[in-house]
Amino acid sequence: MNQAATPDTGTPVSIGLEKVRQRISDAERAHGRREGSVQLLAVSKTRPTGDILQALKAGQTAFGENYLQDALDKIRQLREHGAQWHFIGRIQSNKTRSIAENFDWVHSADQLKQLRRLNDQRPADLPLLNVCLQINIDQEQSKGGLSPEAAAELVGQAQEFPRLRICGLMTLPEPVSGFESQRRPFRELRLLRDRLATPETPLETLSMGMSGDLEAAIAEGSTIVRVGTAIFGPRPQVARRVDEG
Ligand SMILES: *Cc1c(COP(=O)(O)O)cnc(C)c1O
Repeated sequence: MNQAATPDTGTPVSIGLEKVRQRISDAERAHGRREGSVQLLAVSKTRPTGDILQALKAGQTAFGENYLQDALDKIRQLREHGAQWHFIGRIQSNKTRSIAENFDWVHSADQLKQLRRLNDQRPADLPLLNVCLQINIDQEQSKGGLSPEAAAELVGQAQEFPRLRICGLMTLPEPVSGFESQRRPFRELRLLRDRLATPETPLETLSMGMSGDLEAAIAEGSTIVRVGTAIFGPRPQVARRVDEG
């Protein structure tokens, strides 16, 4: 029997995950980042729970979701698997309670009102809700996210939210090609973080980088990359939904 010729090929998801993990560790090495300093968030929006199960089996624990109702269904179905859930989509004010009750992280907070509601609605028996402020670094009209000025004001108010841990900043720049062009918005986010950080609110998390630009984000200090397509393959084409961000 020729065992060497039949390596375990794994599932499509475990192969995608392995490739992305390799890209992350290559980028850490290339840009002088400490090994293991960049966390992988697997963006599982539009994916069936079967795909998430494959990822869990391959050792992935953190999952990002944009569409609240879909996410709540998956969280319920996968309850006993110990996954960590990150909400990364547009936040509708009347939906904050479900987010506060079911997620470990929120990456897309961009209004004082949302922070107030998430804080008030975070159940007392759960750990603090980890929150990143989403920054509209290019000041695009169509995008969610705070201006740098508005972010400064919110960080100043962080002490008012005892049930939240304001961990850092997130951005979702327009996709561009070319490594240097990709780095620019990520560098701006890092510099903004450096300006806004205080001893009470050190803003250690930089949630930036996706399938197409994670190397550029890691070069600029990303601590969480949010990756969907490169793990799970192309998403089914659905009409762009209002809460996509
Ligand atoms: C969909 C999405 C991602 C992942 O994008 P890919 O290009 O599939 O890696 C990351 N962040 C946010 C906020 C998203 O909506």
